[in-house]
Amino acid sequence: MEIQIKGLRKHYQSDGKTVKALDGVDLTIPANEIFTLLGPSGCGKTTLLRCIVGLETPDEGEIRIGGEIMWSSAQGIAVPPERRGLGMVFQTYAIWPHMSVFDNVAYPLQIRGESRSAIREKVARTLQFVQLEGVEKRSATKLSGGQQQRVALARALVAEPKVILFDEPLSNLDAKLREETRKELKSFLGALNITAVYVTHDRVEALALSDSIAVMRAGNIVEIGSPQKIYFNADHRYVADFIGRANLIQVSIAGHENGLTLVDSTLGRLRCQSRDLPDGSAATLCIRPEFLHVDRTLADASPADQNIIHGKIASMEFVGEVYEVEIHVGEERLLARLDPNMPVQIGDTVSIRLAPQHCLLVSA
Ligand code: ATP
Repeated sequence: MEIQIKGLRKHYQSDGKTVKALDGVDLTIPANEIFTLLGPSGCGKTTLLRCIVGLETPDEGEIRIGGEIMWSSAQGIAVPPERRGLGMVFQTYAIWPHMSVFDNVAYPLQIRGESRSAIREKVARTLQFVQLEGVEKRSATKLSGGQQQRVALARALVAEPKVILFDEPLSNLDAKLREETRKELKSFLGALNITAVYVTHDRVEALALSDSIAVMRAGNIVEIGSPQKIYFNADHRYVADFIGRANLIQVSIAGHENGLTLVDSTLGRLRCQSRDLPDGSAATLCIRPEFLHVDRTLADASPADQNIIHGKIASMEFVGEVYEVEIHVGEERLLARLDPNMPVQIGDTVSIRLAPQHCLLVSA
């Protein structure tokens, strides 16, 4: 089901000060997508999620789920959380330690007063779906972290919610288990055809899991797009910077030629992806480290359709699959990722090719 949010505002009072958590959020979350709210700590992700669920009361605005108003300041409507038809999975799993796996998952159906046979059938089906059949009688805490998270997922799914919401559900798992559970979760959600709203500050998790990502800053949504759009083609410097490592260079627009935009920068004149910006205006050039093509042989001239610059390798750090290398080009410090077999060392002068299609212009 689609979720529509209009003009949502929320302030908290804390130590006599007013904290602006949501600053007029307008957002449409499409039906049956995994939609991620991504942003740094304190940007309002959890507050937005809790407002959708009904665990937090906004100051102003409107929330509709499947076209139905769940909360509206103008109309004085506030549907209580248990009547919004949503399932939620928390960071802490929030499963009950004194109950068995079966009882944890059965709980939402019991409070709805469903029959014992219906409960047995639905719990069995849901536990099978999350691959936990056979541990029904076990105390929920006698499971691994990944299994406990699957119990929490089963409990959120058992009542067949219209929408499922996740608040940093993987952050208590160690790195390897987090990756495995993320893949499982993606396949579970893919099989369900359900709208999922997912909060995280982990960019890799957001990129790997989502159909769409909304990047937030200070109570607002800055940009929304597919993982590929946000990573390769962001409009905003803030988004390009937040979603991955990036070389960000101040430039001034110098003109447009052959479907490319020309810029002047401390690296000289460069050809970039076309961007409709007036001559003389300021922008930021964003180049991901993996798109710096470094070569030991020093190319002299820049061919008409390429950007070639020269720099000196200032540091090299081996991080496993690549060397992360800092290259000094005049005053500029560029980060590149090099094949560990490449025969270069600190102090070498190298040429760097920057393909125009990987030179992205974002807001200044
Ligand atoms: P995190 O990733 O750290 O959970 P977040 O992006 O989810 O952060 P929120 O938890 O929504 O951010 O918080 C938004 C702002 O509101 C922050 O400045 C936070 O300190 C403040 N805030 C959140 N809850 C409360 C509260 N109950 N009382 C006072 N201030 C709060």
